[in-house]
Amino acid sequence: MATEALALTGTASEPLPTVTLFNTENVSLIRPRVNLGGVMVDQVDFDSAVDRIERFLTSGGSHQIATVNLDFVSIARRRPEFMDMLNQVDLAVPDGMPLVWLSRYTGTPLTERVAGVELFGACCEIAAEQGLGVFFLGAAEGVAEEAARNLRAIYPGLNVVGTYSPSKGSLSDEEDEYIVQLIQEAQPHFLFVALGAPRQDVWIREHMSRLHVPVSMGVGCVFDIYAGAVKRAPRWMQQLGLEWAFRLVQEPARLWRRYLIDDLPTFAAVMLATRGAKPTPTLAAEA
Ligand code: UDP
Repeated sequence: MATEALALTGTASEPLPTVTLFNTENVSLIRPRVNLGGVMVDQVDFDSAVDRIERFLTSGGSHQIATVNLDFVSIARRRPEFMDMLNQVDLAVPDGMPLVWLSRYTGTPLTERVAGVELFGACCEIAAEQGLGVFFLGAAEGVAEEAARNLRAIYPGLNVVGTYSPSKGSLSDEEDEYIVQLIQEAQPHFLFVALGAPRQDVWIREHMSRLHVPVSMGVGCVFDIYAGAVKRAPRWMQQLGLEWAFRLVQEPARLWRRYLIDDLPTFAAVMLATRGAKPTPTLAAEA
């Protein structure tokens, strides 16, 4: 076992104890996180999130990534079981400028937004380079296949080992079991799930122990973006933190309630709560 030791000066007759600092072969890395309205978000930038994912691939076991945005925080504050679930994932990235803004009131600000769509692209790049399989679960019929075709053009050699578009709404036990078997047989290294939040993240949590997939991530509308069915906001809007406004204009009937009734008051409530709060311990051990 490799250890690092701190040896203090002693005499031959009375040696001082040797203090073991840590076991360098089996060290648990510490995960600094920031508390945003009760949701613990990892203090990562894009590159360190990618590093973390590369370690998940080699460390053994199954890992879950959540791409947390203000809507996740809003849902989690209404549903404590979702909050508990989110706080148990292996990596929770800040997928939205509002989270970066809120973190500035905590004394431990996040340095940048880590967009889920870009993290997904980085995972596909890693998968293509290392010959690892990816599985796409979710989105409307044909969307994941179209996304896979377009992604193969961007990342040549990308091995999409399976796609499946489930029925809308909650899944029957039979369909659930069928999906688990599909994924088990395909043996992907990455599983991307697009069922909308919180369903996609809860689905991963409930099934990951049977799937044996090193990295699973909920991806929202990412397959739709790569299939060309949904447009991403222009760069300048992303940089100003206005991607939500772009989506609202595209789908006002579906999204007005989410952004204006749920998320805006959540932003104000978390800001007020965070401004006056004492810092709480936010360190966790990396899986
Ligand atoms: N979706 C799905 N089944 C569902 C709900 C959603 O396959 O029961 C897919 C939907 O087609 C889309 C993705 O999940 O491709 C993200 O859904 P939505 O846009 O509602 O999620 P958001 O990103 O807005 O949270």
